[in-house]
Amino acid sequence: TAPTQAAPPITTVSQELFARARQVTPGGVNSPVRAFKSVGGTPRFIASADGAYLTDADGNTLLDYIGSWGPMILGHNHAGVREAILEAAVHGTSFGAPGWREVALAELVTRLTGTQKVRFVSSGTEATMSALRLARGFTGRKYILKFRGNYHGHADGLLVEAGSGLMTNADDLGQAAPSSAGVPPEYAGLTLVTEYNDPAALDALMAARGHEIAAVIFEPVVGNAGVLLPTPEFVAALHRSREGGTLLIADEVMTGFRLALGGATELLHLTPDLICWGKIIGGGLPVGAYGGRAEVMEYVSPQGPVYQAGTLSGNPLAMAAGLATLTALESDPGLYGRLESYTERLAQGLAQAAADAGVTVCINRVGSMLTVFFQAGPVASYTDAARSDTAAFAAWFQGMLARGVYWAPSQFESIFVGAAHNDAELNATLSAARASFQELK
Ligand code: PLP
Repeated sequence: TAPTQAAPPITTVSQELFARARQVTPGGVNSPVRAFKSVGGTPRFIASADGAYLTDADGNTLLDYIGSWGPMILGHNHAGVREAILEAAVHGTSFGAPGWREVALAELVTRLTGTQKVRFVSSGTEATMSALRLARGFTGRKYILKFRGNYHGHADGLLVEAGSGLMTNADDLGQAAPSSAGVPPEYAGLTLVTEYNDPAALDALMAARGHEIAAVIFEPVVGNAGVLLPTPEFVAALHRSREGGTLLIADEVMTGFRLALGGATELLHLTPDLICWGKIIGGGLPVGAYGGRAEVMEYVSPQGPVYQAGTLSGNPLAMAAGLATLTALESDPGLYGRLESYTERLAQGLAQAAADAGVTVCINRVGSMLTVFFQAGPVASYTDAARSDTAAFAAWFQGMLARGVYWAPSQFESIFVGAAHNDAELNATLSAARASFQELK
């Protein structure tokens, strides 16, 4: 049967807003991947969000799989989170002095993640940047090691062979190149890079240069090259990398509180020295954090010699949103199983729909994170991911959007399933996906 043609949605107001935005904001957006550069078309300007749905400025309803790029695990406009924010706002919006919510959230985060001390910042970028400074201060070493296609935010030394929007916008995906103009080569030169899921390469680098390396930073499950799962051999090599005193930093900005209450660290039985968080920890408000064992964390000022500060760090509204979100997650022990079951049924349905349409895909999934790579796979590294057919992905993405399903607008991103995704959403998604795959024939 011929695919049902989707009626072209009306996007007049989004188009007007995008034109105005381009006059006053670079590319019309405040974060690059929102501009739809690699998939084309007008980015939807969002007016409101509730549960699993967004409403755009033209009044179109969109079934949301981005969830603000991860934070909205409970769904949009969750009553408990909203009320906590409103309740906090009544008592003042920023103090520049400590308050009880920071203490309560730090107690909760350390308990859930098996860390001893935590410091709150305002974004994932700040968390990784600060954790690396701490690792350098603690070890007295200057190099760091990261993996190709992992994204850790936009601090200078981390914009080296990075994933996410940098991968989306790269002209030549396979090329080993600095990821951004404006990063002095001297900075980039302090960042060593090797391939994810290549334990032999990691062992060799550590054997040759480990004594100079302050930290190995990694995404325990990668979301920023599309979803990549670590092999057990790679996880073992990560553990070995600590043997000469190098600190292991798990960047759980995306995976923390998403794959389990204890994050990917819990799932993979990893024991990093430091963990970085963002996204869910702030329940949709700007929060990041880094934490670990007390011996290392006590190097942070004012106790220790490593400086790190923030005017809005520990902001009461943001802490309230984080507390309400993590408390809701902890009080619903079945939630992670439900997210996993939905996402697995989504993966199976997508695979079947693609196969029926004769479209070759490789679906990587873990917990509530999933990427449909437009290629045969397997996809275990940045280099593998870069072989995907991005034009086919873009066409499929447009088919989904035209049918009201708001998928991540890049081949190299994860989608995020949340607590508000139920059977009705699954069925709607799969019928949109079926028609959109058929259109690629
Ligand atoms: N680390 C990881 C793994 C991320 O996915 C991101 C953002 O997507 C960051 C760090 C940066 O976080 P933020 O965008 O809050 O600065």
